[in-house]
Amino acid sequence: MSVTHCVKVIINNPSRQVDRCFDYIGNGASEGDHVLVPFGKGNKLTDGVVIGEGEAEYTDKLKTVERVKGKLLDKRRIELLNWLREKYVCTYYDSLRILLPPGAMSSKNGAYEGFGNRKINFAYFAADEETFDSELSVLELKAPAQARVMDILSQVKKMPVVYLTEMSQTTVSTVKALEKKGFLKIEPEAVERNPFKEMPVEIKKDLNPTDEQRAVIDYTVSVMKENRYEGILLRGVTGSGKTEVYLQAVREAVNMGRKAIILVPEISLTPQMSKRFLSRFGDRVAIFHSGLSMGERFDAWDKINKNEIDVVVGARSAVFTPLENIGIIVVDEEHEASYKSDMSPRYDAREAAEFICRSNNAVLMLASATPSVKSAYKALKGEYTLKQMKNRYNNVNLPLVDVVDMRLELSKGNRSFFSFRLQDEIEKNLKNKEQTILFLNRRGFATFVSCRACGFAAKCPDCNIALTYHKYDNNLVCHYCGYTIKNYTTCPSCNSKFIKQFGVGTEKVEEEIKNIFPQATTIRMDVDTTRGKMSHQKILEKFENEKIDILVGTQMITKGLDFPNVSLVGVLAADMMLYSDDYQAGEKTFQLITQVCGRAGRGAKQGRAIVQTYSPQHRIITCSKNQDYGEFYKNEIAVRKKIMYPPFSDIINIIVSGENVRNVREMICKISDETKTKLGEENIYFSFAGPNPAPISKISGRYRWRLLLKCESCEKVRSVLRQTVINAKKLDDDLTVTLDINPNSVL
Ligand code: ADP
Ligand code: ZN
Ligand code: ZN
Repeated sequence: MSVTHCVKVIINNPSRQVDRCFDYIGNGASEGDHVLVPFGKGNKLTDGVVIGEGEAEYTDKLKTVERVKGKLLDKRRIELLNWLREKYVCTYYDSLRILLPPGAMSSKNGAYEGFGNRKINFAYFAADEETFDSELSVLELKAPAQARVMDILSQVKKMPVVYLTEMSQTTVSTVKALEKKGFLKIEPEAVERNPFKEMPVEIKKDLNPTDEQRAVIDYTVSVMKENRYEGILLRGVTGSGKTEVYLQAVREAVNMGRKAIILVPEISLTPQMSKRFLSRFGDRVAIFHSGLSMGERFDAWDKINKNEIDVVVGARSAVFTPLENIGIIVVDEEHEASYKSDMSPRYDAREAAEFICRSNNAVLMLASATPSVKSAYKALKGEYTLKQMKNRYNNVNLPLVDVVDMRLELSKGNRSFFSFRLQDEIEKNLKNKEQTILFLNRRGFATFVSCRACGFAAKCPDCNIALTYHKYDNNLVCHYCGYTIKNYTTCPSCNSKFIKQFGVGTEKVEEEIKNIFPQATTIRMDVDTTRGKMSHQKILEKFENEKIDILVGTQMITKGLDFPNVSLVGVLAADMMLYSDDYQAGEKTFQLITQVCGRAGRGAKQGRAIVQTYSPQHRIITCSKNQDYGEFYKNEIAVRKKIMYPPFSDIINIIVSGENVRNVREMICKISDETKTKLGEENIYFSFAGPNPAPISKISGRYRWRLLLKCESCEKVRSVLRQTVINAKKLDDDLTVTLDINPNSVL
């Protein structure tokens, strides 16, 4: 029997049913090629990618690749593709999507056509230099407009047609006439869409590192010189100068001819961080964030692909840009939840960074003042090297954190949500012209609206979630789907007037501040005030430049900000997260309090932080007060071990959603039964919760049922899950199954 050589092709189709390799006769195609292949019964020509070569399993019906369209992936990126699909139990289609240029899969015909560069017409000088002078004088007499055009073009040789016509005060037809005469040529050329081009930055020299910084930089460079993988966990207190460490380590990598990726949480991609990198590496830096248009993203990606970029700074998806020969990947604020994607593929950018560093023999640097319990655990086990920076730059003191017991405020007759203590401190700051940051983890005005006569509560009809009251437009809004109605004046259920708002959001905090301190200037930063392009930047610049007295905000203000004139931070409701239904609630609360307090006292003055709580004895609150990471970790890891939660296990959240609740239920039960049986057969330890309606049992009109699976390690359960999900999928086309490993939220 003859053995036929073939190429293994994945097809551009999102369905799990075709999520595998198909064999084709190569016809000149090789690994990484973008190909066009006949597919399915009708042999419809379909886009695909060759991800391997080998021997065909069934040789008789083998089809042939129609055409090769170009290279899409190199070997390393094919490995990354396979890793993503395995690790997150997703499809080739989803994994490929994040490795291709931005917009590549948005084309309607299902081809990876790519978004493409923006091209504009340029005019090129094409007249004969020898005779040009005399020809120009002829033109001046007969066609003055044409003469003006040629006069300019003879000096610059090349110019976009739009500028040329503007400068010579004429129209495109003049330029076209000149083209006919052979004086110039018009040709399209790609131009870059780069929003940062306009941002003036002067190139700055590296700062003189402190001893603590020096030690970390030297160690990192020594590992890079040995050209091997190593994970470093850098725990540096807030204000210790971690950014300077990244900058100098990256500088050394670039000097060695290698490249770097700096991942930052989306919300801390402030101009501050971008500027620091732009001012050191100039136009060798590409910056990625969600505020960019598709075109701008494509252009940045394209420059990376053309090897014109040394340093990429961006949010989690920047880890997938096609940078070659990486020397270091830095994950700033590595404890941040936003590194975990909540859309398919539901990857963790920290894990992806580790995979990429291993394959590049590069350094992975995870940095934070409050490392995630998972990373700290790995460091203690020796998987990562722990490096510490214990002092703030210039030996500035860490802020003094004070805890205020809000129960006592009530008994003192204080019904506002600012304790007397906090009010005094704000007063002091106003007098001294120092700035204050107030943090509340809730936007809007009131968190819910309900009737005191009959108990009616305003809920979103599509989501089973309480509506939030927004005062500025007098609306009730669903924060999940955007559903909006006018606020009630009377109860829709019993007509009583006793329908009232409860709870507090940032909008109300700002209003109350204005009542108590009418002389103070305030600015608010949350999802509602940062919808416009660059609005995030503008608020922060205004706060800094115009010396606004008080900044009120949500999570957005907790990290990355470095304002020397901020000496007071108030955490208004520390308990809000502490008692949420999440095994990570304690960890998240500790991190948030430490980070937000870390915004205070970065300049010459001693920083103060006031934490308001109803549970001052809670160990998370006391650890936050003492800024004792060690004590926090010791307690937390003991609890996790006792109840077998990550890092001692993996949690897998499976959600089935759809419009027909019976189908939803039937499908989740099918997945559940089949998974239990198979895991049992293979002797894998696991435990189940559910299937039940998810805590948020409906979103945008789709019912949601949930199955929570806890297992020792998800390595062994992946293939079982992939199979059961594929089997179940056949039930009903409207149903969606999502599978999330160690998710941020199981709601
Ligand atoms: P972190 O990210 O660790 O919270 P930053 O990187 O924001 O700290 O640094 C805190 C402040 O100290 C910044 O204003 C920074 O410019 C300054 N700084 C850090 N290192 C140095 C240095 N070696 N020389 C001068 N200033 C420094
Ligand atoms: Zn009522
Ligand atoms: Zn809704």
